[in-house]
Amino acid sequence: MSGSGVVRFQPALAKQSQRLVSTALSRLPRIQGKPVIFHFLPALTSCRGKLLSAQGRGTEIHAASFMRQRLTVLDRDLLAQPPELARILIHELFHYSWIRLGNKARWSFEDLLRSEAASNARGELGWSAWILKRCLSARDVLERTPAWRAYACESYCDSAACFYSGISSHPEFTLASRFRKIRVHWFSTQFSSVISI
Ligand SMILES: [Zn+2]
Repeated sequence: MSGSGVVRFQPALAKQSQRLVSTALSRLPRIQGKPVIFHFLPALTSCRGKLLSAQGRGTEIHAASFMRQRLTVLDRDLLAQPPELARILIHELFHYSWIRLGNKARWSFEDLLRSEAASNARGELGWSAWILKRCLSARDVLERTPAWRAYACESYCDSAACFYSGISSHPEFTLASRFRKIRVHWFSTQFSSVISI
């Protein structure tokens, strides 16, 4: 096993991969919490709710997190794409953070998204959030339906991945910069020194 503190890699990563991962995580505030194990496997796909590796069927995915087991599986190809590795790794890490966030902060982030919706903000900061956002109805926004809450979670993770990965532009970053700035402010206020996962 390699990795320090709460973010651990199993089996241990090669030196070069360790460096990539350290760089990917270097822009984050300090992380605290129980360890999360990260595991790399080749050719990840999702098929009927199951995670497969190198099986040649299902829909291609970059990563899957098993929250109760505190285990995240990442596609091994990401090790050859450092910026994407940073983006996906941070996205998955923030799924653990969302759970720890507490209602007050979660609702505050949802308020931010609701005011975006009221301003007709289009676009998102990642495909995961975008595919859910485009299916939301006015009722979802108003009544905090499960579809809304799933969207809020993915939007939170995609926003964190956008801000902390150090990537300034990406085809999936389609949210206008005036809304992006409000999200950046929210994250910098929320996580000035430490992130709980
Ligand atoms: Zn996600």
